[in-house]
This record gives sequence, C-alpha cells and structure tokens, in this order.
Amino acid sequence: MSKKGILTVVSGFSGAGKGTLMKALLKKYEYGLSISATTRAPRVGEEDGREYFFLTRERFESMIKQGELIEWAEYVGNYYGTPKKYVEDQLAQGKDVILEIEVQGAFHVREQFPDALLLFITPPCAEELKNRLINRGTESLDKIEKRLSRASEEAVYMKDYDYIVVNDDLDECVEQLNDIIESEHSKTLRNEAFIEEMSKQLEVFKKGDR
Ligand code: 5GP
Repeated sequence: MSKKGILTVVSGFSGAGKGTLMKALLKKYEYGLSISATTRAPRVGEEDGREYFFLTRERFESMIKQGELIEWAEYVGNYYGTPKKYVEDQLAQGKDVILEIEVQGAFHVREQFPDALLLFITPPCAEELKNRLINRGTESLDKIEKRLSRASEEAVYMKDYDYIVVNDDLDECVEQLNDIIESEHSKTLRNEAFIEEMSKQLEVFKKGDR
C-alpha cells in the first residue's frame, strides 16, 4: 500500500490546544513535525530550534526572497513561515509530515501540494476558547483580544478543511488525528500504483469464457 509520505496541515484557533496536541501525538506516533520560522519573541520555556526558529524580520525577509519557505503569513503583527527543506526531505523519504500553521498558510500549502490533508482543530465552544487563552497566561489581554478577533475571521474557512476535530479530551483527540491520517493512506487515489500492479498480476488468472 501507499508508502508515500502524507503532508498534513493542522490549523485551529489560537488557544485550541494545538501545541499540546501535537506534543502528545508525536510522543505516541511517528510523525515529522515541521519547525516553523517566526519573528515573534519566544514565550517562557520556548527554545530556538525546538518550538520555532526565532528570527529577526531581516532574516525572515531574506528567507522569503531566497525562496526558502513553502509558505509564510503575517499573524497578529509577526511573520510565520514553513522552511522548505525539512518538509521536502521528509516527504521524499516517505515520512508523514505535519505542519501546524494558520489558515492563510494552509491554503498556500494546498496550492503547492494539492493532495495535502487539511485538519482544523477547535475547542467545543467559543467560551472555552477564551478561557483557554486566559488560563494559558502567555499573552496580554490586548493580544488575547486580537487572537479572538482573528479566530472569528478564521471561522469562515473551517468549512474548507477536510476534517474538523473537536479538542475536548486530549487523548481522544490524539487517536482521532492518527486515525484520520492512517485512513488517508488507504485512499484509492493514493494507491494508484498498487491498484495497477495488483490488476496486472491478476491478469494471468483471466479466462476468456465466463
Ligand atoms: P503562536 O504565536 O501561538 O505560536 O502561533 C500563532 C499562529 O501562527 C498559530 O495559528 C500557528 O498555527 C501559526 N503558525 C505557526 N507556524 C506557522 C507557519 O509556519 N506558517 C503559518 N502560516 N502559520 C504558522
């Protein structure tokens, strides 16, 4: 069956719990998580090269110019982008790769990789989203308001994703994500070479009369 790596894009409102979800998913299953470049400042506990590559605006703009990013977007005043090399190398080796990026970036990825799988993570309701952002305690009230306002803009695009995953229970959500990606490997469209080969092998059994 399909050994080609699947490129999965995971988006979701800020505060939906994507970061925690990705960590839990990677702890249990083997996926390559792309590390993005950003111009935003590191949060307490974040390390350069682990959560993000933290860059100056100049360095980021030079990466754009040199064509080193698959996609990039501005999000609440900062640049975020996906370095090309890692993703291309992993996919070429047949590994499944996950990009955790916002909606504009997701659709740019789909333009370049039409068979990318797009998943959208959301908490069960808006109130829960607000509470999670406040309880996370990493952003000022002003930034939280900006992120919530951005969430209401992003909601328009939820319907364009392949799957919506409600992040209510972390463990259940991890299993659901893994199941979706696993099933994707079985899609007929991703197994055309297998189908062709199997049909060819079966031809020797073909009888003229029925
Ligand atoms: P945060 O500042 O909370 O880490 O991320 C803010 C938003 O930027 C999130 O929605 C996250 O998914 C998105 N993001 C992170 N990396 C990238 C990237 O490489 N490209 C794009 N387009 N968005 C990204």
